[in-house]
Amino acid sequence: MIRALFAGYPARWDSYEAPLRAAFEELGLAVDLSRDHTPETVDYVILEPNGPVTDFGPFTRAKAVLNLWAGVETLVGNATLTQPLTRMVDPGLTEGMVEWVCGHVLRYHLEMDSLLAHQDGGWHRVIPPLARERRIGLLGLGALGMAVANALRALNFDVAGWSRRAKDAPFPTSSGEDGLERVLSRAEILVLLLPDTSATQNLLNTERLAMLPRGARILNPGRGPLIDDAALLEALDSGQLAHATLDVFREEPLPPDHPYWAHPGVTVSPHVASETRPVTAARVIAENMRRGEAGEPFLHLVDRAAGY
Ligand code: NDP
Repeated sequence: MIRALFAGYPARWDSYEAPLRAAFEELGLAVDLSRDHTPETVDYVILEPNGPVTDFGPFTRAKAVLNLWAGVETLVGNATLTQPLTRMVDPGLTEGMVEWVCGHVLRYHLEMDSLLAHQDGGWHRVIPPLARERRIGLLGLGALGMAVANALRALNFDVAGWSRRAKDAPFPTSSGEDGLERVLSRAEILVLLLPDTSATQNLLNTERLAMLPRGARILNPGRGPLIDDAALLEALDSGQLAHATLDVFREEPLPPDHPYWAHPGVTVSPHVASETRPVTAARVIAENMRRGEAGEPFLHLVDRAAGY
């Protein structure tokens, strides 16, 4: 019998227990799933980050720590976590992110805010360009970035992407500082889907914001620290940026007195771009446990050196 600890708070357990049990059954895994196993007896830790377990030292026989979230920035620096660590790549979460990004890109592309602002009896006809004429920059071409790129391309948007390593993709992609400048310099709408690592913090600083075409718009469903907040506010005030929709922040919830709340150029979205969905995520957890038992490599293993 495999012993799996659900290391999460009660509310999370309520939504995950049944989907996990169903997923184990689908794969024929005999699992003793509990919130109360003693650490030394546990084979797998199913982890809610920022949850009740932060010291992984006592989990001496654990074969893996299986994270329920995509982001691992709060875990990679945990010196007690020496077991293999996997992150969540959940088809449900990906679907949600594709919908959120496409929705907000279309909002910008079709100038929906200006329609809402002109319900005054005037016949203000603003004809948007076609999507094929709208240049989108996508920073991050991982599980989420690639799915978003594919969906935007299916809508005909002119997408160019940037990632750490070069990619073979059916649209222009690049890496490195030169590649970043190329992507930024053409991005009328910029989407950030990078992880929070020491290499990506403050990536969007004054200098890089100045590389964007004047009047560009930004969507950040990645992580708050990717953006230098002061530089962003300055770029909005100067007109270099027309608008930013921010889903993630250095401090969450965003403090009530933060300038983003009152700024007319910012839409604050309360970290809702996408959630891990219990039914689809449970299948990913179960598949990784099956792999662990069969001696096969885990899916979505975190690269500790790279930080994601
Ligand atoms: P992945 O790890 O699959 O992809 C990360 C991408 O970022 C990869 O393309 C990677 O490059 C690129 N990258 C990482 N570091 C650098 C760097 N230094 N320079 C250039 N590119 C870099 O992650 P996901 O796509 O699954 O998720 C992305 C992020 O989205 C998560 O880390 C999380 O922060 C955020 N997220 C936000 C949610 C929300 O609700 N707002 C929900 C879920 C996730 P390469 O391909 O070369 O490795």
